[in-house]
Amino acid sequence: MEGESEHNEQRAMKIGQVARELNISVETIRMYETAGLILPEKTGSGQRLFDVNDVFWLNCIRRLIKEQGMNLEGIRRLLALMPCWNIKPCTAKDQQICPAVLKAEQPCWAMKEQLPPICKTANCRECAVYQSASKCTNLKTLLYGIRKRAMALTF
Ligand code: SF4
Repeated sequence: MEGESEHNEQRAMKIGQVARELNISVETIRMYETAGLILPEKTGSGQRLFDVNDVFWLNCIRRLIKEQGMNLEGIRRLLALMPCWNIKPCTAKDQQICPAVLKAEQPCWAMKEQLPPICKTANCRECAVYQSASKCTNLKTLLYGIRKRAMALTF
């Protein structure tokens, strides 16, 4: 729909605008993308576009780094622990061979090419897994859950 597309375009921000809004550099946003932490929308010409959820998520990444002392690798591994198989309709058989289940080094959307067709052909930005993972509150819950389990093992 033309009206809807115009509306979306109005809400979409270019990388320079987002960098200014968050007071970070364009290179930093690109680095987060390369690390697999964020998936901006890309136009046919390869231009990155960000919506309000992306900006919230970028802000969350900044806070995890500044306030929680995390680094990019730590955040990536945390995202990799998101149980996508509980959200996508994967069968037990799928799970036995899926790299997203077997490896915990990067989020599923960063290893898409190695995944079964259900993921390989999907638009991750529209997937409930990416949308759920890229929320500060969900990530913090996961982080605190891991810390709690680690402490319980220590004492
Ligand atoms: S569609 Fe993308 S984000 Fe969703 S589970 Fe598959 S790889 Fe992950």
